[in-house]
Amino acid sequence: MKKQKIGAVVLAAGQGKRMQSKVAKQFLELNGRPLITYALEAFEKSGIDEVILVTSQDEISYCTDEIVKKYGFSKVKAVVAGGKERYHSVYEGLKAFRSCSDIQYVLIQDGARPLVTEAVIERAIEGAIQYDACVVGMPVKDTIKVSNQEGFAAGTPDRSSLWQIQTPQAFRFDLILDAYEKIMRCPEYQEHITDDAMVVETMTSCPVKLVEGDYRNIKVTTPEDLLVAEIFLRTK
Ligand code: C5P
Repeated sequence: MKKQKIGAVVLAAGQGKRMQSKVAKQFLELNGRPLITYALEAFEKSGIDEVILVTSQDEISYCTDEIVKKYGFSKVKAVVAGGKERYHSVYEGLKAFRSCSDIQYVLIQDGARPLVTEAVIERAIEGAIQYDACVVGMPVKDTIKVSNQEGFAAGTPDRSSLWQIQTPQAFRFDLILDAYEKIMRCPEYQEHITDDAMVVETMTSCPVKLVEGDYRNIKVTTPEDLLVAEIFLRTK
């Protein structure tokens, strides 16, 4: 069978307000090097062919010189500017692939997840090839409550059907590009988009397969996550 060409959009255009730090979380130092280098390294070693790194306009030259060139990430094809919300940044990454590549599948990765492994990346690739759309995640461990506006419990969804969703999220390229192009024209659907699967769920009829991620594949969001990530990296 002809080998599929697979790309990855790695997101590093967030401001990381919940980190309470002047430096955006994806560039904070983690065990001696910038946090974003860990996800880029995992993709460099994986079966992915090309990477588009999305960052803020102001950080493009820093990312090009101090991340991509310095650490020798040879799969990074371009560093492009993202947008206000995560989904704007994803769309910029997808458009960059559309204009400069001929990939058949794409993985979308939070740059703020330094513990993504090659095994998880491989499972996401396999899921995309088999199902056209998949996300990695893990069954939730805690009981989840829905809160009403007054802060009282309004319901308790059945825990056995709940997953916490991670990245990579992986798709057939034309499917996710088409879904994003449609949602960008529909402001009424843009509220509360927090992941790419939501875009596919909202704008297409393609079911999104849930694939096993890794409990260590955390997103560094608040200061205590940095400590946890440091320990996980040391014991990798
Ligand atoms: O804000 P959140 O934690 O959901 O961000 C997840 C990932 O998306 C991070 O890697 C962040 O840098 C990226 N992001 C982005 N553009 C934005 C917002 C977030 O690339 N406008």
